[in-house]
Amino acid sequence: MLLIRCPVCGVKGEEGDFHAGGQAHVRRPATSDPVNITDEQHRDYLFLRHNPKGLHFERWRCDRGCGKWFHAARDTVTLDFKAYYKIDELPPVELMRQATGYWAEHFAPHLKATKAKKPVAKRNARVRS
Ligand SMILES: [Zn+2]
Repeated sequence: MLLIRCPVCGVKGEEGDFHAGGQAHVRRPATSDPVNITDEQHRDYLFLRHNPKGLHFERWRCDRGCGKWFHAARDTVTLDFKAYYKIDELPPVELMRQATGYWAEHFAPHLKATKAKKPVAKRNARVRS
C-alpha cells in the first residue's frame, strides 16, 4: 500500500485515492517546429517511457481532494515517496542530483541553471553584530 500526500491541497490517502499517471516530465518534441518531427521522435514521445530501478519521477492525480495533477519522486525498489511537488515545478535539487541514467540526463540542464542562479556573495556585505 502506498501512502500519498497531495502537494496542492494536502489530502493524504492510499494509492486508491489517487490516480497514477505514469512517467513525469515527458518532453514533447519540437513544439516550435512540429512539421519536422520524425516518426521516431513522435513514437518515442507517445509510447516510450522509462522504468528505472530506484529513483523515479511520476505523475499522480488527487482524486479524493482537489482533482489536480502533481508530480512525485518515488523509489521503485522501496516504494517510498521522496517528494511531492506541483505539476509546474521541478523536483527538489537534492533529488535531481541523486538521479541516475535517463533522469540524470534529463535534469542536467536544470541543475546547471540552478547553479548559475546561485547568489554571489557580496564583497562588502555587512556582518551583523
Ligand atoms: Zn489535492
